[in-house]
Amino acid sequence: MDLIIRNAHIVGERGLKDIGVEGSKIAKIGKIAGKAHNAIDAKGMLVSPAFIDPHIHLDKCMIGDAIRPNVSGTLQEAIEIIWDTKRKYTVADIVKRAGGVIKLAAMNGTTRMRTHADVDTIGGLTPVKGLLAVKKKFKNIMDIQVVAFPQEGILRDPGTEELMRKAMELGADLVGGMPHHERPYSEARPHIDICFKIAKEFGADIDMHVDETDDPASRSLKYLAEKTVKEGYQGRVTAGHTCALAAYPDDYAREVIRKVKLANINMITNPVTNLVIQGREDKQPIRRGITRVKELLAAGVNVSFGQDCVNDAFYPFGKADMLEVANISAHAAQLSMPDEIETVFKMMTENAARTLRVLDDYGIAVGKRADLVIIDAASPKDAIRRQPDRRYVIKGGKILAESQSLRKLR
Ligand SMILES: [Zn+2]
Repeated sequence: MDLIIRNAHIVGERGLKDIGVEGSKIAKIGKIAGKAHNAIDAKGMLVSPAFIDPHIHLDKCMIGDAIRPNVSGTLQEAIEIIWDTKRKYTVADIVKRAGGVIKLAAMNGTTRMRTHADVDTIGGLTPVKGLLAVKKKFKNIMDIQVVAFPQEGILRDPGTEELMRKAMELGADLVGGMPHHERPYSEARPHIDICFKIAKEFGADIDMHVDETDDPASRSLKYLAEKTVKEGYQGRVTAGHTCALAAYPDDYAREVIRKVKLANINMITNPVTNLVIQGREDKQPIRRGITRVKELLAAGVNVSFGQDCVNDAFYPFGKADMLEVANISAHAAQLSMPDEIETVFKMMTENAARTLRVLDDYGIAVGKRADLVIIDAASPKDAIRRQPDRRYVIKGGKILAESQSLRKLR
């Protein structure tokens, strides 16, 4: 064996086991005799498949201290604030900022990410070029999927449709979308149609920002679900944010969730940003601005959550730690029962792997890629509660990071 992790408390299992790794794959689980080139004694610590962040904006990350603050706190102001900065983006500057966040995320136990890259007539193709350079440069640290994301809309920003095609030609992995940003809302449908057209031209999957607003009149999710079925894209479409689903009347929301399930759409909620950026026009009580997480889960929909933003115009905090995101998401979605907390843990592992369509090579089982995180915790709940040291992060069978904090009470 190249690596043996001894005395591992594997998430979801009882007792302690050894995990043997050969090359990049898990080769054996159980009691393993003999020596290995490398050995880690997990001493009963929690061992999980490495985390996955399925929704982040690496092109925008870490510009927060160089721009003016978001006074209204709204999504619209955030979008406008970054226009000047976006015009000046360079590939080198994106690689530097995103690279810092990727290293942090890796040390926090994440080895796979899906990032959006703005595609519009302001920044042109620089964000996509930057994040494709990031994907290449940091490939030993992080597996990255890049989404060509029309942040400013497609119809209201003429020229974007062709830029989207160019982004796909450059090597973007998925087609993004921002249908609710079109004006009037009725333009959301042609926006979605264009996204499917481009996706089909390139044989690509789709991951859209959908109804990221508290406005119950923003109703593109239902059409997206219908279009997904019509185009035979079941399982290949992801919808992020979908805040308006929470603002819909209950009976309409139920109908939409039924259609989402039928279309096998992967849903990503981003409570970290949306708790801060939604509900800004509400007087008390202020809505939480996140989607109907519990109802989606109860309907059997695949739901995960993302960091979304790290220190940008949309959200001033963020440390690229999925355990922090899990903690905030559990609060926001009121997932507090023991089984619900287990589900929260699954949302950043198994569920996110399903969204990224990497489940075949993901998890702790023989033959799967050895992407693992050893957490100094007794259980998933303990990990989410304390966000303790990720003692070891392993990617493709190699030890990628180690952490051990020193704390002393005198
Ligand atoms: Zn987003």
